[in-house]
Amino acid sequence: MTTVFKFGGASIKNADAIRHLTPLIEAHRDRPLVVVVSAMGKTTNALEALLADARDGNRGGDGYQERLASLKASHREVADALFGGEADSLKSRLDALFDELDEQHRHYRDSPYPEHYDQTVCYGELLSTTLVAEWLNRQGVETEWLDARELIITDEQHQDANLNWSATTDAIRKRAGGEDRVLLTQGFIGGTSGGASTTLGREGSDFSAAIFAHCLDAAEVVIWKDVPGLFNADPRRFDNAVQLKRLSYAETIELAWHGAKVIHPKTLGPLKQKAIPLTVRSFETPDAPPSVIDADTRFDTEHPSCILRDDQVLLEVKSKDFSFMDEPRQHDILGRLVEAGVHANLIDGSAMQFTLCCDNKPERLQPLTDSLDADYALERQEGLTLLTVRHPSESLLERLSEGRDILAERRNATTTQRLFRTDECPETWHIPD
Ligand code: ADP
Ligand code: ASP
Ligand code: MG
Repeated sequence: MTTVFKFGGASIKNADAIRHLTPLIEAHRDRPLVVVVSAMGKTTNALEALLADARDGNRGGDGYQERLASLKASHREVADALFGGEADSLKSRLDALFDELDEQHRHYRDSPYPEHYDQTVCYGELLSTTLVAEWLNRQGVETEWLDARELIITDEQHQDANLNWSATTDAIRKRAGGEDRVLLTQGFIGGTSGGASTTLGREGSDFSAAIFAHCLDAAEVVIWKDVPGLFNADPRRFDNAVQLKRLSYAETIELAWHGAKVIHPKTLGPLKQKAIPLTVRSFETPDAPPSVIDADTRFDTEHPSCILRDDQVLLEVKSKDFSFMDEPRQHDILGRLVEAGVHANLIDGSAMQFTLCCDNKPERLQPLTDSLDADYALERQEGLTLLTVRHPSESLLERLSEGRDILAERRNATTTQRLFRTDECPETWHIPD
């Protein structure tokens, strides 16, 4: 049975990191292996910045050209570091991909942003996988490079494409399964049946790995990270986060959906359906005990978990004529959210007020608040941090909120969410005993 590996940006951020992939892959060569790889380091952010420059009245101007040249230089540098004097043919293939990126940009620069985005940002993964496949083959690990745009078949909802599961399953099964060589492909990207590139949403490579595993009835998915596994809080933000060695699909979906950045929330569904376990391991300490996620729910409540979302906006919506914020009004407001493509991280209602908390994405929020402003009394506050706690005790909540105003709250039997002003929050958090 196939194993699916996923390597994120941090695990291939430079030549040294790419060198470290070989032993991890070689240790699993006794079974069929599909390897899903993200763009190198922060390449996707760099491509987004390049696109922003290109569209910001500066089309094809200096900002765009400079950023393109710098991305090209960083990829060529990795090729030189890995292959020294024998990098010429690889460097021309990388250059050809950069030329294609530039051509795509010129072709789509007047198209709607999401379409332009997908035709250009997909090159981050095409470039990284070209480098990694070359490295593995030269190391004697026989590797076939596959174009995920021909395997992950989606609709045309750019930047957040929906999967056509039956076409994807057919395409993947036709191309993959049971081989001796490693099959290496891109995370995050897919394609329409008409040949356009699409993307699955930021951080979507985890989801890509789950799609391959689901379609191939894989034995396991292993996500290689810069942390030993899944923790009960982001170890970069909480000084006493503890690793969760066992967790259920359902609990992990909750953590991811509420904003735990370690796994894309769409990853868990396809794995749960086929009872495929997900292992989260460290590429830095591969022998350290990992986190294993499967159907077993026994360990879900062993530790409370904390999730932070920064850069939040609070929207308090009231009627202009003192009438109730009842179902028809809530229905109307949520309909406007859907139309604007805005997701609410917290929703709460009372007789006179409907409360929402959203990520601060001005290009989506502005049309929404303009539309709400026209028909409701709207108050808006920025610079906020949303804390979500799973399985908290009352005293834990009290201590986590000490010294801070609670601007909004939502709670149910398992989860409490509280909204604070960011400038009242600590730089480093601590989960009280
Ligand atoms: P990749 O590029 O491999 O997908 P990410 O940077 O997206 O890696 O995810 C790894 C990071 O997720 C870690 O460095 C860590 O700071 C962060 N993180 C956030 N929440 C958690 C959590 N609950 N457990 C572990 N890591 C977390
Ligand atoms: N490269 C994409 C991103 O940075 C996808 C991923 O890494 O999962 O969002
Ligand atoms: Mg990620």
